Amino acid sequence: MFEKIIAQDRAKKILSEQIKNNKIPHAYIFMGEEGTGKMLTAIEFAKTLNCMINDYTKTDAGPCNHCLSCEHIDKGTFPDLHIINFEKQDEIAEKESEKGKTKLGIRLIRYMQDKVYIKATDGKWKFFIIEPAEKMTIEAFNCLLKTLEEPPDNTIIILIAKHKETIPVTIVSRVQTVFFQPLRTEEVSKYLQEKHFLSQDKADNIAEMADGSIEKAETLMLNTQNEYSTLWSELTSKKLAVADILIKSKSVAKDRDSAIEAVTILTESATKFFRQNPGKYANIIEQLSESKKYLERNANPTNVLDNLFLYINSKINGDIKLCQW
Ligand SMILES: [Zn+2]
Repeated sequence: MFEKIIAQDRAKKILSEQIKNNKIPHAYIFMGEEGTGKMLTAIEFAKTLNCMINDYTKTDAGPCNHCLSCEHIDKGTFPDLHIINFEKQDEIAEKESEKGKTKLGIRLIRYMQDKVYIKATDGKWKFFIIEPAEKMTIEAFNCLLKTLEEPPDNTIIILIAKHKETIPVTIVSRVQTVFFQPLRTEEVSKYLQEKHFLSQDKADNIAEMADGSIEKAETLMLNTQNEYSTLWSELTSKKLAVADILIKSKSVAKDRDSAIEAVTILTESATKFFRQNPGKYANIIEQLSESKKYLERNANPTNVLDNLFLYINSKINGDIKLCQW
């Protein structure tokens, strides 16, 4: 259960035990810094309880991830899972002036309450996830308190928050608090290597800057990748002279990791075009794969990228003659 959640052994243990014993509180606060898996855990929780294949009262396998319920929850189209957040607040706003607020107001909680006492449509359990709970107004908290005092059947309310101090004691005393710890640097690095196929060096570098947050790590990763996101369109441009290609290659080949990353991103772009026109792009894909192998075997990045970039440009535009490997 909760295999998708990185680390957080204590939180996972608490929830798994409650699910296994079918002693599930009607409300929680998932407390912890951003990027520690609070929302993902809430979603997996909803899937586990609503899965149509794996019955949580009989198996601790967690959700099947394939049934209609699991698929709808993953796509955000499950009718009994409600995310109560700023987007929802804007969506239900009647006037323009009610949009873009910095607090979650009482109207939003009243909207939630209208849904709370309606019987579940598809699922066995209804979930309401309020995020960020610490941004609720006092009126909104007081309004929520009424629901917590008269909890509806088969309904779970999860407040997601960074700090406990910002939530009134009257609320905290009525819900189960589950803490989410910042991840260790090596856990973030392992995640980046396994999920995004980064080299260990690159993953370690990003993980050190990520303050134990997967979200922050992924943003940092995307920022470095964005450096190369336009590389394919640049390289395949007709206007590019040989000298420009060589300058480009030199700038990308600052070190082996950057070169490998650029080749990986170029491969993603080339693969998209390959699917539309395999004949034209097969050789390019092959050349990209060869280049990656050379880089991994410590070939000089500038030499490898000079050849690769010229090859890509010539294959697309058909001008330049160049040496073979
Ligand atoms: Zn399922």
